[in-house]
Amino acid sequence: MAQRTFSILKPDAVRAGQTAAILAELQKAGFTIVAIKKMVLSKPQAQGFYAVHAKRPFFDSLTTFMSSGSIVAMVLEKENAIADLRKAMGATNPADAEPGTIRKKFARSIEENAIHGSDGEETAAFEIGYFFAGHELI
Ligand code: GDP
Repeated sequence: MAQRTFSILKPDAVRAGQTAAILAELQKAGFTIVAIKKMVLSKPQAQGFYAVHAKRPFFDSLTTFMSSGSIVAMVLEKENAIADLRKAMGATNPADAEPGTIRKKFARSIEENAIHGSDGEETAAFEIGYFFAGHELI
């Protein structure tokens, strides 16, 4: 059954002009785009999105980075979308990412790693709702 997940093209990738290339990778991997928007997050908005990481030492740096420029927020759909997107993204640290994954091809560092993808069903539901209203998901 088709499943939805949430993804962000992060400021490093958008700044580097990699938006279209990463969207092409996602299309090749079988995802359809249910909703998409380009926007700039404020720091409080980035802090709210990453609230689960609030106690991590990199929280301030991460939320400064995520509010440093345009992002592209998306809801993606396919069978097994949540796990398949994590697979297509590759490991958090691009140095550890499998060849052929988006992070291996496009990421700069463990922080500036090009793409976000929800890590589970509950997270996906929270993250989709954080960025998109119901009427944008028809
Ligand atoms: P993800 O699910 O693969 O995105 O990884 P996490 O949920 O663990 O971390 C969220 C995001 O925080 C990552 O995608 C990175 O942008 C950033 N991050 C994770 N670990 C580190 C770290 O050790 N140092 C820094 N500076 N950023 C990190």
